[in-house]
This record gives sequence, structure tokens and C-alpha cells, in this order.
Amino acid sequence: MKLLFERSCPGRGAALLPACDVPAAEFDAALLRDQAPRLPEISEIDLGRHYTELAKQTHGVNDGFYPLGSCTMKYNPRVNEEMAALPGFTQIHPLQPVETVQGCLEVIYESEQLLCEITGMDGMTFQPAAGAHGEYTGLLLIRKYHLSRGDTARTKIIVPDSAHGTNPASAAMAGFQVVSVPSNDQGGVDLDALRKAVGPDTAGLMLTNPNTVGLFDPNILEITKIIHDAGGLCYYDGANLNAIMGHARPGDMGFDCVHINLHKTFSTPHGGGGPGSGPVGCKSFLEAFLPSPRVKKNGETFSFGTPEQTMGQVRSFYGNFLVVVRALTYVLTLGKEGIPEASAGAVLNANYLMKKLVGAYDMSYDTQCMHEFVMTLQGLAHDTGVTAMDVAKRLLDFGIHPPTMYFPLIVHEALMVEPTETESPETLDEAAEVFLKILEEAKTDPESLHHAPHDCAIGRPDEVTAARAPVLRYSFGE
Ligand SMILES: *Cc1c(COP(=O)(O)O)cnc(C)c1O
Repeated sequence: MKLLFERSCPGRGAALLPACDVPAAEFDAALLRDQAPRLPEISEIDLGRHYTELAKQTHGVNDGFYPLGSCTMKYNPRVNEEMAALPGFTQIHPLQPVETVQGCLEVIYESEQLLCEITGMDGMTFQPAAGAHGEYTGLLLIRKYHLSRGDTARTKIIVPDSAHGTNPASAAMAGFQVVSVPSNDQGGVDLDALRKAVGPDTAGLMLTNPNTVGLFDPNILEITKIIHDAGGLCYYDGANLNAIMGHARPGDMGFDCVHINLHKTFSTPHGGGGPGSGPVGCKSFLEAFLPSPRVKKNGETFSFGTPEQTMGQVRSFYGNFLVVVRALTYVLTLGKEGIPEASAGAVLNANYLMKKLVGAYDMSYDTQCMHEFVMTLQGLAHDTGVTAMDVAKRLLDFGIHPPTMYFPLIVHEALMVEPTETESPETLDEAAEVFLKILEEAKTDPESLHHAPHDCAIGRPDEVTAARAPVLRYSFGE
């Protein structure tokens, strides 16, 4: 496929600018470039075709099944987009006087009330731009809390070995030392190891529940009690909230603060890497430390306020506001009945698909799952040489996005499948057939699977180089 630079033709363009109606500004010649930037010059139709061609080479939730575990790639109702595109939400400026954007403040306020109700928290900030950023913010809350009590010895954060990589990374960034605790054979936290890990240096625990193997930890109340008894706080990584919303609340499990990934659970498109939103909720005793500003309601009017011992800002202004508009639309559309129905559907769909595959594929934990399940292809790799990567790549030929691969790290040759509630039984049946067909191919023609996908624009990119040394500049060949 040709690049825009290669299609460029001098003098072409796609912009029709009105005549300038303000005086031209004079700049010091020393500040001006000698040569105009060499941007591609291209007509509107060629530009449109270029991006359409690029779009055709990707796989999105509108193209087909997208069971990417831990990411909750569900279908996003179009009405969310319509609400987020309303001029009252888009044609505003963050520095506008608050009297002129009362509706926007109300959106943040309402979203805070509803999401606090869903998570069992008392207050929330919408500044963090995604889950990992929320983790960092939550850890700063924990740090501020301990320091405000003069307790400077709490330097360690406990993280189970099944945790998402962002958990230990955020803890380290927030200045804590990370203590890893192992999982037990049921996939939950090993309580004895946890009891041994806590002490006067424990600042807190970070936990996902259901965890990254798709299992709800039945010992959750005991886990949070062990941490609290040791003087630590409990942070809930809410990335898997899609499994429990409307049924169980982190606040009732003993968690003191939580982030939610609005782009996962509350339906914002996020395949291309954003924008996201990772609001952080907390119990009332932590509210004074939340980032500033926060929306307040006085009678019928809304304004901004600064929490007394605020950590300051973790991002400019108020976060990714339009993602919050989508989340509020989603919650209000589903309502009190729809929210628990959505999570029940997510759990049902995961168990339905797992049951169709169990016996053929090995499950990492052979028990009922929550919203996702993890298969281990170690046996298959041993018998046929076909790896989790080969199976994932072959799925692309059938129009299915690969599941999450090689995560969580505690499962070897892992494929982590999260169908979500927005898929029909027919889609799940078709996906199960494809998985079983690939298993047949692994036994009869393993060699061809090493070269899959066969029908995609790009087959097996060098993923490490693509991530570490991406080519982001066009060279004019000089
Ligand atoms: C996605 C995810 C995160 C990180 O969230 P981002 O929004 O991608 O920053 C953290 N923990 C778990 C379990 C996740 O699945």
C-alpha cells in the first residue's frame, strides 16, 4: 500500500479555507522556517481512499468476534456516540466560566453518583486517562493517607503473581516496593503466603476480582481483612468489573479505593488505544486526598472545589470528558435492571463457550469461570509443535480477533478468551467450531499453522521491533 507521501502531488489539496478576515501577524524572520514543511499534498478523494484502505486492514468489533481477554471489547451502542457528539459537549472550552457549562458539570456529578453506587465507593475523580493511570492515582491516595497519619514506614505494596503487569509497574512508579504473593491451586490468593507477607511496612494490596484467570476469589473478605489488620489499605483493579457489576461491589468486599476502565466496562471504543478513562473511587476517609478539582453541587448549581489535602492534578483539566458522557449514556440506558443483566450475560457467554471447548482444549482451571476463561496450550505445543501464537494467528483467517496471548504469566501457552455479553449464541457456536477446526489442523497439518494467517494483509510482524523501534518518520530519500 502506498503512503500519503508517495501519493503526494504538488498543488493538490483537500482544504477550502475562507478568506482571512483578521490582520496578518508579522513574525521576526529569525523565527520563520526557510522552507515550507513537506506535507503530503493530496485530493480529498485520494485521502478518503487511503484511510478506508487502512481501516480495511484492521479488525474491529464491527468486523467480527473480538474475544480479547482482560480488555472487554464489547459492542458499543451507537447512541453513546450520538450523545458524545452533541455540540453542547464538544463545542466548549475547559476554561469557560462554569455558569456556561452547567450541563457538563452535571454529567460528571451524575456519573460520580452512579459509578459510586455500582462500586460501593463514596467519592470519585475522573481525571485519570486510563486504568494504569488510575492505579497510579489510587496508590498516591494510599501514600497520602499513610503519610497524613505520620506513618512513614509503609513502603510496600502486595501484588498477587496473577496480576496485570500494570499493577507492579504503577506501584513502582508511585515509589513503593512490590511484594509478589503466589496463587494457590484454585487460582486465588494463597492466604498463608499473604499472612506471611504483611507487616508494619505494608502500605496496601492491589487485587483484581475476578482475577486475571477469570475466577472470583471466594476468600476475598479474609484477604482484605488480613491487609486491614496489618494497617494497610486495599486497592481494587476494576478492569474486570464487567463480570460483577450490579451483583457485587468492591466497596462491600473491603476495598478502600478502586479504578474502573470506562473504555472497557462502560462501553467506549478502545481498540486503537484510546481515548480512555480510568476514574478512581474511594471511601469517604480518602476523599480529602483526591485530585483537584472536583465537581460540587450546591442546590441546583454545580461548581468546582478543591479537596482539603488534595494530591493536586494528575492530568490537565477534568479528564477525557467525552468518554464519561458515553459511560453515563450507557448506564442510564441500561438502568438498574440492565447493568446486572449485562454482567450476567458476560458470565453466561464465557461459560457457554468454555463448555463447548473443554475436553478438546485444556483449561488452566477446570471450573466454572466468570466473564473470561484461560486455556493452556502447553500439551498441544508438546504433542504437535503448534503454539498459542499459531492458533491465535490462524483465527484471523476466520475473521476472529485473537484472544489475549501468553497472559497471565502464571499460565503456560495461555489463550485468554472473553466473549462479552454482546455476542449472540450463533457467534459463539461459530467461534467454537473454528477453535475445534484449528485443533484438527494442528493434528493433521501443523506446519501450515506456523505460517498462519494466510489471508491477512500482514501476517507475522516482528512485534518486538514494531514496539521498540517503530518507523514513524518518512524519509524523503536524501
Ligand atoms: C486493562 C487492564 C489494566 C490497565 O488498564 P488500561 O486502561 O489499559 O490502562 C489493568 N488491569 C487489568 C486487569 C486490565 O485488564
